[in-house]
Amino acid sequence: MSESVYLNGQFVSREDACLPVTDRGLLFGDSVYEVIPTYAGIPFRAEQHLDRLQRSLDAIGMGNPLGPDEWLEVLMRLCDTDPDQDRSIYIQVTRGAYDIRTHRPPAASDPNVIAFTAPIPARDSRIVREGIKAITLADTRWHRCDIKSTNLLANVMAQAEALKNEAEDAIFIRNGFAREGTSSNLFIVLDELLLTPPNSDEILPGITRDLILELAADAGISHAEASIDESELRQASEIWLTSSTREIAPVVELNGIPVGEGRPGPHWQRMDQLYQAAKERIRLRARSGEKHEP
Ligand code: PMP
Repeated sequence: MSESVYLNGQFVSREDACLPVTDRGLLFGDSVYEVIPTYAGIPFRAEQHLDRLQRSLDAIGMGNPLGPDEWLEVLMRLCDTDPDQDRSIYIQVTRGAYDIRTHRPPAASDPNVIAFTAPIPARDSRIVREGIKAITLADTRWHRCDIKSTNLLANVMAQAEALKNEAEDAIFIRNGFAREGTSSNLFIVLDELLLTPPNSDEILPGITRDLILELAADAGISHAEASIDESELRQASEIWLTSSTREIAPVVELNGIPVGEGRPGPHWQRMDQLYQAAKERIRLRARSGEKHEP
């Protein structure tokens, strides 16, 4: 029996989880999504992810098919099946399927909701030791990158370009400023100051980004939200790309040139420890029988 998939109120096997070919998510990318990591069966920062889902739905003019408690229950059911394995939960809400293919959205939508999990791979010790390579690319995406929409073709093409260049990720540059990675937010260390671009419609407001800013504030690490131009990116002593499933990936080579000393730097080491400690607190909660974050 394959893992179960949540589909419009039911838990079914992957094989039985089917949507009509006229679903607007498939035809137009008319849908939004979230990816929520779970540790020891507890969804990490679920409230923040569900808030962002709400903001994406609001932005595209769709109602939320589930309330916060109903969403939490779906998340809990999906990660309950195998709490020993850290998993990410993918959720997607589409504007539904209609007989006539037209760009015009229907007056009343009948959304389709899917959710399923995937194992989070164990931390790659090579990345921890050696970091990753990245390239810069022109940002060819649309102008609402703050919406977590499933229109990800530009991101996919940028990943393909990164792969061609033997790099793990690409950093998007728009109007001379570095914005974010293909599926990650950007941090740099410049003159001992931790910097990340401010939230705007040019980046996704990352949940990991917010956590890092919180951890930096708590630990008294100097940080600021400020635009990062291309020359600052090149001068940075450290570059990190962050996301819920990749956590904090240290970039050690940009466009073939070493970043700083060409290995994961001291600020990354410190932040990574703080981040791992935050995850460990979730595992402790799970051991004491809690099912979700307060
Ligand atoms: N930016 C983009 C474009 C992304 O796709 C992601 C991953 N969803 C992120 C940033 C990081 O967001 P989060 O920390 O919430 O995973």
